[in-house]
Amino acid sequence: MKATILNVGTELLVGSTLNTHSYYISQKLHEIGVGVLYHAVVGDNPVRLEDMIGYYYDTSDLIIATGGLGPTEDDLTKEIFAKWFGVPLYFSEEIREDIEARFRGFGRPMTPNNLRQCYVPEGAEILWNENGTATGFILEKDGKIAILLPGPPRELRPMFEKQVIPWLRQRVSQVLTSRYFKIFGLGESATEDRLSDLFAAQINPTLATYAKTGEVLLRVTASGASDSENQKLLEPMVEEIRSRIGDHIYAERDAELSEVLFELLRDKGLKIALAESCTGGMMADMLVSHSGVSEVFGVSVVAYDNAVKASVLGVPAETLETFGAVSEETARAMSEGISKISGAELCISVTGIAGPDGGTEKKPVGLVYMDLYNSLSREHRTFKQVFTGNRERVRQASAMKAFYEAIQWLKADLTIASKEI
Ligand code: ATP
Repeated sequence: MKATILNVGTELLVGSTLNTHSYYISQKLHEIGVGVLYHAVVGDNPVRLEDMIGYYYDTSDLIIATGGLGPTEDDLTKEIFAKWFGVPLYFSEEIREDIEARFRGFGRPMTPNNLRQCYVPEGAEILWNENGTATGFILEKDGKIAILLPGPPRELRPMFEKQVIPWLRQRVSQVLTSRYFKIFGLGESATEDRLSDLFAAQINPTLATYAKTGEVLLRVTASGASDSENQKLLEPMVEEIRSRIGDHIYAERDAELSEVLFELLRDKGLKIALAESCTGGMMADMLVSHSGVSEVFGVSVVAYDNAVKASVLGVPAETLETFGAVSEETARAMSEGISKISGAELCISVTGIAGPDGGTEKKPVGLVYMDLYNSLSREHRTFKQVFTGNRERVRQASAMKAFYEAIQWLKADLTIASKEI
């Protein structure tokens, strides 16, 4: 089944409302195996709405329209769809009673314009609205389906999940199964390049990349009669992807770096501590966004000022003077310093020049040192990188790189065994 999502509302075109229905409905349709061919947005204009319906009626099996089911003059979705499907509207006493009961509940009289919402396209299935007065509808004719849904998300979402999805499930014979890969250190085009022949030949499974901030999400989707059949189709592709870009894959699901790091630490019974200069608490913020992280994380010192690097983290004054705050030596001293304060097994420090000011020829804007310290084996892994982009981007890229390298180290050999040394 191929679908179009048609969002109706001038507020979407003028930018006063963010169109959240398109992605929400797409995600849900994808989960049940309905492919979405088009997203379209049209204002509250009957002529243009009719044109759009005509176009997508011919190209899709299913049109899901949102908005324009309210009681006002510009709410015309139902009328125009009924015209397209060649059915008249009839007045539903059942809907009138429902709306009147709602108004009695509010302690207000029903306004006459609400009567417009009592009209139903003949033959349509009514979708009851738990949170509003606009009912939705399902229209079906000659193998074509239109599903009309109210605009407000708190009305649309329960209606969609409780009524539309079960209705569609009964009609969809194909199941879609997706596998996800999170990739770091390889951009979107480089990822596609390494997999170019797979992209060129894709039929089933299909591949798609999504560039995220500082990383890439790769999705592989198989379509078949059942999930187990799809898993069989996916397996060879998954193996091929692992063999080609496995060195950059940090998760085989849609997870964040901080989440994967947290889980690895928890599984290995290790603790992490942070000493942050240019990231200014960003790494701590990323970690504490995950519930239960206190099991592995207790402290981050934001040592932005050199005086704090010295007094709190114990970075020797001569290290700061000789090598500067942005140096491998300072980064190493910072992570050792936070190790003494925290007793954590894995300590990470970041110090760099986030810009836009403060760069020199020797130490340009974007230069960052990240140090990972295993306080059990007293081993350091230090990384130097010059990141591009604005201040925010440099800070974020530093935090992400540090977390990525920590994940790599944990996966390789920073284990409970090392704790016992
Ligand atoms: P109502 O009964 O409220 O009139 P309706 O079906 O006529 O419902 P609209 O008038 O088109 O819906 O939209 C009502 C509100 O729903 C909008 O002001 C907006 O806040 C929200 N809305 C509409 N379409 C979208 C959308 N595509 N994404 C997110 N919100 C939306």
